[in-house]
Amino acid sequence: MSYLFPTYAKWDVKPKTAKGCYLIDQSGKTYLDFTSGIGVCNLGHQPDEVKEEVLKQLDGYWHVSNLFQMENQEIAAELLAKAAGLDAVFFANSGAEANEAAIKLARKATGKSKIITFEKSFHGRTFATMAATGQDKIKQGFGTMLETFVYVPYNDITSLEQEMDEDVAAVMLEVIQGEGGINVGDAEFLKSVEKLCHENHSLLIIDEIQTGIGRTGKPFAYQHFGLNPDIITVAKGLGSGFPIGAMVGKAELKAYFGPGSHGSTFGGNPVAIASAIATMKKIFSEAFLEEVKQKSDNFMKELEKALLELPIVNEIRGLGMMIGIDIQGNIPAILAEIREEGLLVLSAGDSVIRLLPPLTVSLAELKKGLDIITKVLKKHCLAAI
Ligand SMILES: *Cc1c(COP(=O)(O)O)cnc(C)c1O
Repeated sequence: MSYLFPTYAKWDVKPKTAKGCYLIDQSGKTYLDFTSGIGVCNLGHQPDEVKEEVLKQLDGYWHVSNLFQMENQEIAAELLAKAAGLDAVFFANSGAEANEAAIKLARKATGKSKIITFEKSFHGRTFATMAATGQDKIKQGFGTMLETFVYVPYNDITSLEQEMDEDVAAVMLEVIQGEGGINVGDAEFLKSVEKLCHENHSLLIIDEIQTGIGRTGKPFAYQHFGLNPDIITVAKGLGSGFPIGAMVGKAELKAYFGPGSHGSTFGGNPVAIASAIATMKKIFSEAFLEEVKQKSDNFMKELEKALLELPIVNEIRGLGMMIGIDIQGNIPAILAEIREEGLLVLSAGDSVIRLLPPLTVSLAELKKGLDIITKVLKKHCLAAI
């Protein structure tokens, strides 16, 4: 019997160690890991340059509280703000907390209450971020939701126009909906959302929790579309596995988050900050991101060549190392078979196999992963006849 609340449908894998793109379980079986801990370990497991900085900080101080001036928080905030073209950072411990900060700030700064989000979005599991999430299954059984949120179909500008009114504090979106099924935003739609927000004096909040920190081949995914958000939120990949989230915003918002307005005991923890600095220094380099782009372009072509001809494959979507294979079939069973073959992958939405390999993955490892996926999906095509 387990003393854990059964909130997760756990896999039949007990990790022992993990390094780079590989995870070894208690029985000694080695898996190629294309989950990156759900988009967290973007540099693979235990990256040396991050480990070194974390170990240094462990010899310094672990926790002192946010009443102290911590030089590393300043360094991390500057790296993050500059990479985003924004000006001010609030550090939290998770994605949901980063979004909570964004929601609170947007309401306080605009004095308005309504926030528009999108169907199939995912923004977290706290009360406000659950309410922000555009999926009924996430909310079932929890009673009445915060009334602040209104949901419209994604990639549909007319529906958004109809909901825009003078009480809209913000529009909040993922440039690629991750949990919702790797749904990529339309370039024209995203630009129109930005324009509508601007005209309506509403803030544009971009949730980069899954798409950020190099995942798509740029520091943040909105940079592929030339967008100019007022606030972005990050978490997952920021600390290479240490729990850290952040809300990043424009300078004019600083006035609304003064002393006493918001806070977090653990937010900006020095050990997590050390890992974030080392992670950002590595990932935000142009050469690193160029390599991610080339590898992922190559991988996408190989995926399309191998899989699109299979009758159970509907579509392959994504950007950079954030890829969804939309199929007909029993996703949990297929994921289990892929694991059996030694590859770890995720699902998203109802019909999507989600691949989030470490950004450091090699072409040979991508090929190895692709061969396993192809083998399992081919078997399912035969079974479907
Ligand atoms: C994972 C995720 C969150 C929630 O992050 P937590 O750290 O689990 O709270 C929010 N938004 C998006 C887009 C995510 O992918």
